[in-house]
Amino acid sequence: MGIHPLINFRAPVMFEEAAVRELCCLARRGYEAKFKKETFGFLFGTLSRDNHITIRRCLYYRGGEKSRTGVTFKDWSTITRLVRRRQELARRLRMRFLGNFHSHVEIAGEVFRGLSQEDRESFLYDPRAIIETIVFVWGGPFKANRSISGAIVGFEPKTSYNYRIRVYAKRRNGIRQVRAKVIPSGVVVIY
Ligand SMILES: [Zn+2]
Repeated sequence: MGIHPLINFRAPVMFEEAAVRELCCLARRGYEAKFKKETFGFLFGTLSRDNHITIRRCLYYRGGEKSRTGVTFKDWSTITRLVRRRQELARRLRMRFLGNFHSHVEIAGEVFRGLSQEDRESFLYDPRAIIETIVFVWGGPFKANRSISGAIVGFEPKTSYNYRIRVYAKRRNGIRQVRAKVIPSGVVVIY
């Protein structure tokens, strides 16, 4: 089966800062859960007339079986429920559903840095998902290299957790990572 690039949007994908914080917070909760868990949810925002995507909200979804290595939806009725739920949320928020997100958590010092086969398949066969977003979370000293990767990078001094957010799109030549950026809010909060 071929890939359907429904929308040829332009990179970078822009994230509101609040959405980035929410993604990191959800990834952290899963990371701190017993035996660790991946998180999962939906991305909402806008697609402008000139094909730019802005992510404004990230909402956690309770459905699905979450483990430290994946999130699974066991049958068609759970998938139907998921699709119905995100449509309902999009209507309520008056935003567009843009894709799903999940996390990859560090296990025994390693974090899986790409898309798994399951990740690729679920993204490919979800025609409404324009993008797929993964938040990688691991502990340890902060080393940033955002300029190379096109990812959004975060660090939490209190916990020493590192976060990296990567966005993937369906392109003609397959699933590709696309650049992601945070919209500068103009306000720096001092704690
Ligand atoms: Zn994954």
